[in-house]
Amino acid sequence: MVNPVVLVTGAASGIGEATVRLYAERGHNVVAVDVDERGLAELEKLDGVATLAGDVSTEETNAGAVRLALERFGRLDAAVLNAGIGGAGPLESAGSIERFDRLFAVNVRGVALGIRAAVPALRAAGGGSIVATSSVSGLRGDPGTWGYNATKAAVINLVRAAAIDYAAQDIRINAIAPGGTVTAMTGSQVADPQFSRLITSRIPAQRWADAREQAEVIWFLTSPAASYVTGVTVPVDGGLSAN
Ligand code: NAD
Repeated sequence: MVNPVVLVTGAASGIGEATVRLYAERGHNVVAVDVDERGLAELEKLDGVATLAGDVSTEETNAGAVRLALERFGRLDAAVLNAGIGGAGPLESAGSIERFDRLFAVNVRGVALGIRAAVPALRAAGGGSIVATSSVSGLRGDPGTWGYNATKAAVINLVRAAAIDYAAQDIRINAIAPGGTVTAMTGSQVADPQFSRLITSRIPAQRWADAREQAEVIWFLTSPAASYVTGVTVPVDGGLSAN
């Protein structure tokens, strides 16, 4: 039997890295995409993992990633469009409009281009699944992060609309909405005991998530067990968005 093939963006760290490792452990071939070449070099050592250094906000990277999957592994069954950046305070602060634009380029355009590049290959495979990484910040407001919150809300509705377009072709498109998860993105918050306690005190589960807990839900969404699930965003947040 041919191993299923999954493409993962933002693969060199955090949730993306945990996802690459989980799929590789479970016998998938993986195309891992990131701007961080050093992180990719570590993943290259894993069996069945091919890597591509590139920026997901470009068509070149997205097309190149799908081409690599087809050339190296002969097919594409799933795409995990996870690359994302944070930052940017309220738009009033100096320089933040440039960051606002960059947030949309990576977090939204990156997902849209990823869907656009993956769909023909998934169709050729007879169907498939796409999972984007949104955030609880797309479901609610947070202080001082207008740009990030707006991009993550955009991902939720992008996924809904795209899912409708491809459902009849057996291509399912969903998202996860992680809550606070221990990764490079949140490293400084986790390391600050006072701030970390403030965050966890608001989470019903009273703790941060491990990146592997996000990867397991991504796995479920791309698996046959989720064959009738499309157009939804699943919070993986210890109950934060239920609060
Ligand atoms: P992370 O910083 O550990 O990993 C993000 C990865 O994306 C990095 O390897 C980075 O190099 C890569 N990346 C950034 N810009 C890129 C680009 N333009 N092209 C290609 N790769 C790029 O962070 P993480 O926490 O694992 O974040 C993964 C996703 O989860 C992001 O979309 C983030 O917004 C989302 N998220 C994270 C949390 C959290 O608490 N960690 C919560 C909600 C949502």
